[in-house]
Amino acid sequence: MKRLIRAVIDTDALRANLARIRSVAPGCKVMAVVKANGYGHGLVPVAKTLLSADAFGVARLEEGVVLRDAGIGQPVVLLEGVFSAEQLTEAAAQRLDIVVHEEEQLRLLESFGEPHRFSVWLKIDTGMNRLGFRVEHVDDAMRRLRALRRPLADLRVMTHLSRADERDCDETAQQVQRFEAAAARYGLVASIGNSAGTFAWPTARGSWVRPGLSLYGVSPFAQEEGAALGLRPVMTLASTVLAIRHVPKGEPVGYGGTWRAPRDSVLAVLAAGYGDGLPRTLEVGAPVLVGDHVVPLVGRVSMDMITVDVSGLPGIAVGTAAELWGPRLPVERVAPFANTIPYELLCGVSQRVPLEIR
Ligand SMILES: *Cc1c(COP(=O)(O)O)cnc(C)c1O
Repeated sequence: MKRLIRAVIDTDALRANLARIRSVAPGCKVMAVVKANGYGHGLVPVAKTLLSADAFGVARLEEGVVLRDAGIGQPVVLLEGVFSAEQLTEAAAQRLDIVVHEEEQLRLLESFGEPHRFSVWLKIDTGMNRLGFRVEHVDDAMRRLRALRRPLADLRVMTHLSRADERDCDETAQQVQRFEAAAARYGLVASIGNSAGTFAWPTARGSWVRPGLSLYGVSPFAQEEGAALGLRPVMTLASTVLAIRHVPKGEPVGYGGTWRAPRDSVLAVLAAGYGDGLPRTLEVGAPVLVGDHVVPLVGRVSMDMITVDVSGLPGIAVGTAAELWGPRLPVERVAPFANTIPYELLCGVSQRVPLEIR
């Protein structure tokens, strides 16, 4: 039986996007960022598809453990590092690489007594003001990391870009400058670019890039879609028409009766709602693909359903296929109608939506 709503994952597209990133950033190693359940695409299936990545990046220890339990042997980097001695011990047991971004994490390493030798990415804050050692504290952190009783297997440096998605903003160039000023003399392997840095700022890559969104075929830039960057959307959020309704002119539709039919209308009811991760803030007029037609959302998003206006369109019936986003309706086009960005829509696909890995 075909499920009413499902996230269809195109593994060929995923592989093609990794290849595309490698061609955009020749010579760079790629840390494939798979946090937040692979941006909603499924942590383990994504990692298993991208075994040729040089490493995987996750936000939380638990995500790293899931990868190890699934038999992933590649380097896995905890992008936020660890928060306690127990977590550090677990990271060692699971052979997870760690980011060290603040003082307390240095202390944890200094009091770590086991024989494991960590690979560490020292994170430098060059302007994001979120995680990382401020430039003036880098020397001290570096000294302490080099003086550890348990020598590190590897010490590398990284920073994160705050505005790389703005092609004509010079903050990225300044961040790179601050990074170089703080780290260059150590001559360590460096990682700078996220997706936007990788595509828009050749000087903001470092020898390791850390793409997330672009792997999934989606553009980090507001004015460009993934296809323009040579990427292929990986997820199709597919659903089905549950019912067709003929609504006379003037009648309200959905909770709150906030939308009224401006004329005698034919509506399709689709199995997709905020219970599936479609934001309730999605506005009337948001595009939805039904059959081969892009049609507007009408009325409020409810938990399990939405309604769309299919008036005058032939061939739409109960059972007709629909897509909330996918290659034919890029998620970049949908996100503005929920006043959000594609990242949030992809990560927001809920637990009850089955993944169909192709
Ligand atoms: C999430 C994340 C990335 C990936 O960012 P994208 O914009 O999705 O490419 C890279 N680096 C770090 C530290 C991150 O947290």
